[in-house]
Amino acid sequence: MHETTNGHLAKMKVALPLTSTANAETSVEPSLEVDALPVEYTLPLDDHRVPLNPLLGQSLQIEFAGAIHCTNCGRASKKSFSQGHCYPCFKKLASCDSCIMSPEKCHFDQGTCREPEWAEQFCMTDHFVYLANSSGVKVGITRGNQIPTRWIDQGATQALPIMRVATRYQSGLVEDALRQHVADRTNWRAMLKSNAEAVDLAAVRDQLFEQCAKELAELSDRFGLLAIQQLDAADTLEIEYPIIEFPTKISSFNLDKNPLAEGTLVGIKGQYLIFDTGVINIRKYTSYQIDFRH
Ligand SMILES: [Zn+2]
Repeated sequence: MHETTNGHLAKMKVALPLTSTANAETSVEPSLEVDALPVEYTLPLDDHRVPLNPLLGQSLQIEFAGAIHCTNCGRASKKSFSQGHCYPCFKKLASCDSCIMSPEKCHFDQGTCREPEWAEQFCMTDHFVYLANSSGVKVGITRGNQIPTRWIDQGATQALPIMRVATRYQSGLVEDALRQHVADRTNWRAMLKSNAEAVDLAAVRDQLFEQCAKELAELSDRFGLLAIQQLDAADTLEIEYPIIEFPTKISSFNLDKNPLAEGTLVGIKGQYLIFDTGVINIRKYTSYQIDFRH
């Protein structure tokens, strides 16, 4: 290890490299399967950007230096609330309200939104309901500009948008109907241990639309056909991750108990770094000031 970068942890940035589909089409060879390239991960540490894929197979250290600074206001906080906030910001920000996790509880219409202007931009805007395969099929919701980031953050190997709706609240109601028939959680241990078996997500979509026809029709009646749209013909996105070796048993580093996480980086999936010695959920330590050594 010869390089140390100091800064506050933040969610890893992800990018899907373009595949060489164009080459495959123009090739005179009979169509060979073109392997998708893995997600490219970058770790932001304040103003630094550390490309992580080149570090696969290398020894790394992440050492918590002891300070947590709120991702919103910068004040020092003994604990991190809601992924990197101080307690006052956690109580004040609309993005930390429980309706963000449970959008069917949106209370914007009651006039009690913590930050109506923020909500206009983040909640009262088009959302997608999707199926993703991370540790089996699950349903989820996301804003359009978070595709495919949201899927990658969950470690999904396949994802398919199945509905477009006009607000976050509506996406919550749709999700509520669909999760009577399909999971809405990822089993993160299973997600880290292997890639889930491939599933025909379009077939699952068609079956769900049938099973939930009544509920979806009611939502269309309530909000209008333009607000609640089924997407019958979207393509399933296949996602590859940079992984040399899957862990056989999962142990998690906990920087609050032991400030040093170290090992050989053998993979990256979702927002987890997989070391030969254990895994660490980078998102959980948002706003922790660390030394990153490689
Ligand atoms: Zn704060």
